[in-house]
Amino acid sequence: MSYIDEIIEQVIEKNPDEPEFHQAVREVLDSIRVIVDANEAQFRRDALLERLVNPERQIKFRVPWIDDQGNAHVNTGYRVQFNSAIGPYKGGLRLHPSVNIGIIKFLGFEQIFKNALTGLPIGGGKGGSDFDPKGKSDREIMSFCQSFMSELCKYIGADTDVPAGDIGTGAREIGYMFGQYKRLRGLFEGVLTGKGLSYGGSLARTEATGYGLLYITDALLRDHNVDIKGKTAVVSGAGNVAIYAIEKAQQLGAKVVTCSDSTGWIYDPDGIDVALLKDIKEVRRARLTAYKDARPNAEYHEGRGVWQVKCDVALPCATQNELTLDDAKQLKANGCIAVCEGANMPTTEEATKFLQENGILFIPGKASNCGGVATSALEMSQNSERLSWSFEEVDSKLKGIMENVYANISAAAKKYGMEGNYVAGANIAGFEKVLNAMNAQGIV
Ligand code: NDP
Repeated sequence: MSYIDEIIEQVIEKNPDEPEFHQAVREVLDSIRVIVDANEAQFRRDALLERLVNPERQIKFRVPWIDDQGNAHVNTGYRVQFNSAIGPYKGGLRLHPSVNIGIIKFLGFEQIFKNALTGLPIGGGKGGSDFDPKGKSDREIMSFCQSFMSELCKYIGADTDVPAGDIGTGAREIGYMFGQYKRLRGLFEGVLTGKGLSYGGSLARTEATGYGLLYITDALLRDHNVDIKGKTAVVSGAGNVAIYAIEKAQQLGAKVVTCSDSTGWIYDPDGIDVALLKDIKEVRRARLTAYKDARPNAEYHEGRGVWQVKCDVALPCATQNELTLDDAKQLKANGCIAVCEGANMPTTEEATKFLQENGILFIPGKASNCGGVATSALEMSQNSERLSWSFEEVDSKLKGIMENVYANISAAAKKYGMEGNYVAGANIAGFEKVLNAMNAQGIV
């Protein structure tokens, strides 16, 4: 059996009930076969893949908090510090009832290669909790965030591990966590990114993942002689990534006709009204039914369904495995030419394979959504030099980074005879950088 297949078997055996983690490992290892096979003896001797798929450290802790009625609750907190070969651990904190160790490990594993692709010195990590922020008051959110940080603060720091936002963790949660860290450690330092502008946050961080997704989508389309202007796009999600993806797509001249949340989805034939969407999701924290109430021309549907809508470009921006094989077939039948992932692993393995085999351009999240973490790294730089850069400066650096990422994944795919396979390109380009650093640092 090949070294890679052995490791995939081991991962499944040693980490039962973690299908998302298995999926992420399988996807990465499958596409670096060409490098591993060529160096098998050395990699086996150095247990390179074992070290790659086992986190350096994983922390699991109790998070007790008190609700507005005075009742105590207990959630589970996680931080997986996966790989620090190229820099301090960096990756978001997810607050969602679906969170478990397997989800955090899949996200942390992906983060290693994503962070390497940005070209910036950041290692891979991820964390979160099965706490559900939905329907909680500000006080309850604060109670949870303070308790979560009371434990997490022992393991993080500006030069060791720098968490950020993710699903369920936005500016409000980062603010409460930062306040608690500062209080407990007595340090005003860049220990979290996604901070508010008045206390060390970076301009354009809020927009970065969505904008970055569109910068790379535009680069991809231009490389294939397609102008994004005038194209129709469908987007899933209505959170941070989706909102700013829609905004930038519209600025580039595309028409975005859908968005969704965990209960339903919107089809707006006139194009999504971003200002309204921001008001509903960022200010009022309401459901998408409020969108329909304000835009009589729009349709609201319960459940899922955005991939049924005819489009040129599809941008999944909600959550993992939200675009299935049936969805991929429907996109193909509707003439879609490109799928670029805003969320982490939103396309199932079968759907990805189908898209690639049917000539639909496909960029995986670790490349197409790395604008968020790249801008987080720019926030870390600004914190270190105690300066704030202008929106334009950060945005233009972000654009440059995304264009570079596209060039690098495209070149890596070509170099190994897989031109146009951006999944392989992203995994290979990310892996090569981490591999060099791991080899240089000995068996650690
Ligand atoms: P948000 O919490 O801001 O938004 C998530 C959106 O997806 C919401 O509209 C939410 O619906 C919907 N959603 C969440 N879970 C589900 C589910 N199980 N089924 C259906 N819909 C769901 O998160 P982000 O926008 O920050 O993150 C979205 C994705 O992008 C995630 O995969 C995240 O890991 C990834 N990502 C985020 C980055 C960032 O900078 N924020 C960076 C890189 C990747 P509802 O409104 O009902 O909650």
